[in-house]
Amino acid sequence: MSSAIPLILGYAQSSLDRHSERRDDDAFLATMRADAEARTVVFAGETPVLKRRPDGASSAYHSLERAATLGEPTETAFLGTDEHGPIFAALIDAAHAEPLKAQGYGVADMRTVAVQGFVTPEETSVLGAAKALFSWHITHRFCAKCGAPSRLSHAGWRRDCPACNAQHFPRTDPVVIMLATIGDRCLLGRSPRFAQPMYSCLAGFMEPGETIEQAVRRETLEETGIACGRVHYILSQPWPFPMSLMIGCIAEAEHDRITIDPVEIADARWFTREQAVAIIEGRHPEGITCPPTIAIAHHLLRAWVDKT
Ligand SMILES: [Zn+2]
Repeated sequence: MSSAIPLILGYAQSSLDRHSERRDDDAFLATMRADAEARTVVFAGETPVLKRRPDGASSAYHSLERAATLGEPTETAFLGTDEHGPIFAALIDAAHAEPLKAQGYGVADMRTVAVQGFVTPEETSVLGAAKALFSWHITHRFCAKCGAPSRLSHAGWRRDCPACNAQHFPRTDPVVIMLATIGDRCLLGRSPRFAQPMYSCLAGFMEPGETIEQAVRRETLEETGIACGRVHYILSQPWPFPMSLMIGCIAEAEHDRITIDPVEIADARWFTREQAVAIIEGRHPEGITCPPTIAIAHHLLRAWVDKT
């Protein structure tokens, strides 16, 4: 099947060269900062601040001079370089968001920026990286070993404890997201948190000591009572809410008897391939919808429908 809406997975389109091996190279970082083409993304708390361009479109990038007028950064990071030059990130206090909005800057949460396509998929992905990194800084201001205040280091990619010398690195939390299938049917569920007609793939956080396959089987069994056998990895997606990696799989169900966990799931149902196509195309007779094209669940469902 085809679609007029571009099938672009959100937050996954960054082409940045991160230069991760040079984050402690002060001379290199100074050269990057002095580059006439250097730009920065700016977050007011967890909300990106977008520049409005003269043509009415928005951009994630501000010049370093302009960014300095938006608010005093509490944290900064060097994200890397693209074909135009260096890209930094600056975190300013969340209280700046509303005044900046009043001054004409684009201020919207990361989900809206991605779903509405306020900036390019590439810029959305760079924003997603900065959002995840800053979400970690915001919630890890103190050393997890001794409790002393920690300091940003390594161009924004580490926090060091001056009291016990512990080094702390940004976290990415793995989440399995899966489409269980049996014959010509697939299993979709509705979270109590979803807007009414939307069904999606099941998902859950991986636990320490688990393989991806085990997490897929455990979550599917816990949420719907469906036991799964073989698990096939399909694709992954950085998901900056607050700092996850979605690991997308298709799982082969061993039976079709659904018993939902009412705490996690409002409903779960088997859908035929034909019904899944109707859902994707927005013409299911009950008005059932699925997540938008930026979401990995959409791509998993489509991969199964298209048998790719
Ligand atoms: Zn410490």
